[in-house]
Amino acid sequence: MRIDRQLEGPEPSFSVELFPPKDEQARQAMLETVEELAVLQPDFFSVTYGAVGATRDGTLETVTTIKRDLGFDAMAHLSCVGESTEGLRAILDRLDEAGIENVLALRGDPPRGEGEFEPVEGGLSGSAELAELISTQYPQIAIGASCFPEVHPEAASLDEDLAYLRVKVDSGASFLITQLFFDNDLYFDFVSAARKAGIEVPIIPGLMPISSYSAIERMAGLCKASIPDPLRESMLALGGDTEAEAELGVAYASQQATDLMRRGAPGIHFYSLNRSYATRSILASLRASRPWEHAEGDLAAEVS
Ligand SMILES: Cc1cc2nc3c(=O)[nH]c(=O)nc-3n(C[C@H](O)[C@H](O)[C@H](O)COP(=O)(O)OP(=O)(O)OC[C@H]3O[C@@H](n4cnc5c(N)ncnc54)[C@H](O)[C@@H]3O)c2cc1C
Repeated sequence: MRIDRQLEGPEPSFSVELFPPKDEQARQAMLETVEELAVLQPDFFSVTYGAVGATRDGTLETVTTIKRDLGFDAMAHLSCVGESTEGLRAILDRLDEAGIENVLALRGDPPRGEGEFEPVEGGLSGSAELAELISTQYPQIAIGASCFPEVHPEAASLDEDLAYLRVKVDSGASFLITQLFFDNDLYFDFVSAARKAGIEVPIIPGLMPISSYSAIERMAGLCKASIPDPLRESMLALGGDTEAEAELGVAYASQQATDLMRRGAPGIHFYSLNRSYATRSILASLRASRPWEHAEGDLAAEVS
């Protein structure tokens, strides 16, 4: 099913992000993750797209397995990095042939070691151009795009970031997924600023449960997501006990998810890192308590 259509329905959208496995053992582990989450009926799985050749085929293979063999709705991430427009069309043709109805249109990061993003000759310069290509030539595919509650590191200001986000939406993106964040007010402030900037499409919050504090510090540093002081202090007080960090991570993300849904978010996109434990715990808790049924009136209307 197209995700934009699913988002029009009364139920929230819960999705799980996976990355393409690098070998057979990792593939089996990923399939186990999908199986363990299946019982909680996520609405779709998305599969990331890498900057080097092998992981690109991995995206197509993984997304096809999820859709064709396992019967779940799926979304392929696709970026402009290192690919000509012809090359992007060839990938989109293959996705279309595999019955994939959803693509997350990204500019992407330059490969490690390269400074700024440079389009290849005959390539596209950003996510808006990719959204335009898909919306004009593959109208059967629903297009998602990224957005950044704490402002993209390359944007000079929130206003500039929102101006480009508006171009992405006008080019065909019909839903947005946020970068990870740990403070829900950042998400709600961002949604409210996006609405004022004329961006009307659903904005799905991206949630990453902490499984190891040192790993999340590195990742948050890379994508410029801030970690609130009380969360940092609680994590540091665990003295490096990774099992306790993972438990605290699930508890924190569970509260974050409940609050997001109660305040009207249209769903949650879980950054699972191909592991099921945290997503399964949080999604089970959401399915049991259904906080969206106790959403706060006006705010909920504004957010979804
Ligand atoms: C939900 C999600 C999934 C992701 N999945 C992947 C993945 O699978 N593979 C991967 O490699 N990376 C992924 N990323 C990371 C992404 O590659 C980075 O954010 C990257 O730095 C930029 O790609 P983008 O599509 O987000 O950029 P864009 O949104 O296209 O651009 C980034 C920012 O640059 C500025 N900008 C760019 N072009 C212009 C312009 N013409 N005019 C004015 N401002 C401009 C804007 O502020 C904009 O917000 C993901 C990010 C998110 C949030």
